[in-house]
Amino acid sequence: MRKKAYHGKWIFTGNREKPILENFVMMTENARILWVKPAEDAEIEDAEAIDLGDAYVVPGFIDAHVHLFCGESAYEECPGRSAAHHVCQGVKNAQELLKAGVVACRDLGAYEGYTLGVRDSIEKGEINGPKIIACGHALCATGGHGYQISYECDGADEVRRQVRRVIKEGADVVKMMVSGGVNSPGPEPGPCEFTEEEIRAGIETAHALGRKVAVHTHGNTAVRYCVEAGVDSIEHGVFLTEDIMDKMVKQGTYLVPTLCAPYYAVTEGLKADPDNPDHAKSKEIIQIHRDMLKQCADKGVKIAFGTDAGSPYNPYDKVPYEMVLMTMAGLSPRQALDAATSGSAELLGIADDYGSLEEGKLATFLCLKENPLEHIACVVDSKDVYIKGEKL
Ligand SMILES: [Zn+2]
Repeated sequence: MRKKAYHGKWIFTGNREKPILENFVMMTENARILWVKPAEDAEIEDAEAIDLGDAYVVPGFIDAHVHLFCGESAYEECPGRSAAHHVCQGVKNAQELLKAGVVACRDLGAYEGYTLGVRDSIEKGEINGPKIIACGHALCATGGHGYQISYECDGADEVRRQVRRVIKEGADVVKMMVSGGVNSPGPEPGPCEFTEEEIRAGIETAHALGRKVAVHTHGNTAVRYCVEAGVDSIEHGVFLTEDIMDKMVKQGTYLVPTLCAPYYAVTEGLKADPDNPDHAKSKEIIQIHRDMLKQCADKGVKIAFGTDAGSPYNPYDKVPYEMVLMTMAGLSPRQALDAATSGSAELLGIADDYGSLEEGKLATFLCLKENPLEHIACVVDSKDVYIKGEKL
C-alpha cells in the first residue's frame, strides 16, 4: 500500500459543492485519490509527505480534438520521409502535449490511422505520453474535407461498412468529416458533404457498436443534420444557429469549438502565406466563431476543450492557450477551466479517472505558478505535470 500525502496552498478539485480548497491535503494510495481535505481536518496516516509549495493545483487538461498525424505531413508533401520517421514525429507531438499539461487527448483523424498504435504503446507503458482516445482514420465523402486522413465512402451502406472497419481497426470513437472547410466552395459556408441518409447511417452504426461520434461541421445544414441524427459532439460549429443550440441543450450534445484553429491560421498562417484564401477566410469568421461559442455557453450547451492542434500552424506545445481564447470570446476563466477538465473528461468517457481531483480518480494533476481563475494566461506557462502521482 503506497500512500502519499500531497500538501499544498491552493487546489481546484472540480468538486461540485466545494471546488476550491486552500491549505489542503490530498491523500492517495496506488496513484488514486482517497480524499482531498483542508489541512486542519486532515488526519495524516503513515504516508509519504510531498510538499507542493506555493503551486496552484488543477486537474490535468484534456484536449478533445487533436491530430497527432495530419494530412500536411503525408508522404506526398514530404517525399522521402520514412514511415518510422513519421511515427516518431507523432510520438513527439503527443509528448509535447503532455509537457504542456494535456494528460489525455482525443485524436480525430490520423494519417494511416497511426495514432491507434501510439495509443496502444502508451497504454502498455512502452513510451511516455498522454492517455489517448482515437478514431484512427476519419470518414469522409470521396474527395471530401480531410480525405488525406480519412476513408472515403459514398452511400449509406458504404458509410456503415467504413464505420465497422475503423472499429475493427481499434477506433474508440468515430469521426465523420460532414462539412467542408470554412472556405470550401458550395451553396453555403462550410457546405454539407455527406447526405442526411449517410450521416444517419454513420451515427446509428457507431452507436450500435458502443462508439460516440464526433463530426467536423461548420455549415448550418451539416450541423443540423448531425444534431437531428443524435451526434455526440459538434467540432468547430462556426455557423450553428440558435434553434440548433436549443436542441443541443435538450439532447446534451457537446460543442468542441477549437478556437485555436482559425486563430493560428490568421496569426501565423497569414504571415507565412499571405495569399492563402483559406487563412483569409479564417480571419473573416473569427468573431462569428467566438460569438457562437458565447451564445452556446449562455444557453447551457455543454462545452468541451479542443484545439485542432496539428491543423495548419496550430502548435502542440501551446494548446492551453485555447482557454485564453475562450475567455476572449466572453467565457469566464472558470468556464474555460471546466471545459478543459470535467467537460472534456465526460465527452471522452474517461471521467472515472480524469477531469477532477476527487475520491477514486487518478492523482494526475498540474502545478501552476499563478491562480488560473485570476490570471487564465498562466495555464500556458511552464508547469509541473504529475501523472498517477509521479512528477513527469
Ligand atoms: Zn480537426
